[in-house]
Amino acid sequence: MSEVRLVLATHNEHKVGELRAILAPVLPALDPASVVGARDVGAPEPVEDGLTFAENALIKARALAQFTGLPAVADDSGLSVDVLGGSPGIFSARWAGRHGDDRANLDLLLAQLADIAPEHRGARFVCAAALVTPDGFEHVETGTLEGALETVPRGTHGFGYDPILVPTGESRTCAELTPQEKNAISHRGTAFRALVPTLVRVLGG
Ligand code: IMP
Repeated sequence: MSEVRLVLATHNEHKVGELRAILAPVLPALDPASVVGARDVGAPEPVEDGLTFAENALIKARALAQFTGLPAVADDSGLSVDVLGGSPGIFSARWAGRHGDDRANLDLLLAQLADIAPEHRGARFVCAAALVTPDGFEHVETGTLEGALETVPRGTHGFGYDPILVPTGESRTCAELTPQEKNAISHRGTAFRALVPTLVRVLGG
């Protein structure tokens, strides 16, 4: 663990991969292999009882910085649907009741929106990215990806609600974009890129 310089507080390998890809071009001093997930360092998952994406990101980053003694980055993200008043929001990962059941979450959301006309299917992915260092420094950035929801899932890339969100100005769903195309416009990409100047300062890159 001695070569690890940045720990990402997620057990989701998709997110570790996305963060590596996002940071590699903008933080060349950081070896992508030194960005590891919470599972790689055996960190326990804290209770995410915040009421906002930012609060939950901070809870996860604080717990990991304390556990590892290393700078820790956490994100909390989700889908915010206009006609549902911003839900699923912080409940995105467990909208159908069971944490991380992407297919059930997506099917339930599509059923809830079955009668909603195309012009009222606006939605966005939101991501809060938090950096916390062991000495107590904390910083949060937020990113969004605006779009509209399809009625039928399309595409095989990505995860979660990717097959039903079509970004504004696109005809493809997020699951039909390549990972590079998605990273370039995504809520997570935007939030993490906004965090980079602070990361460079903290990591001395
Ligand atoms: P988190 O892991 O607590 O941040 O929960 C994020 C949940 O929001 C995921 O389980 C997905 O359901 C959804 N989500 C967040 N970001 C994305 C994305 O980039 N694509 C698709 N779904 C996403």
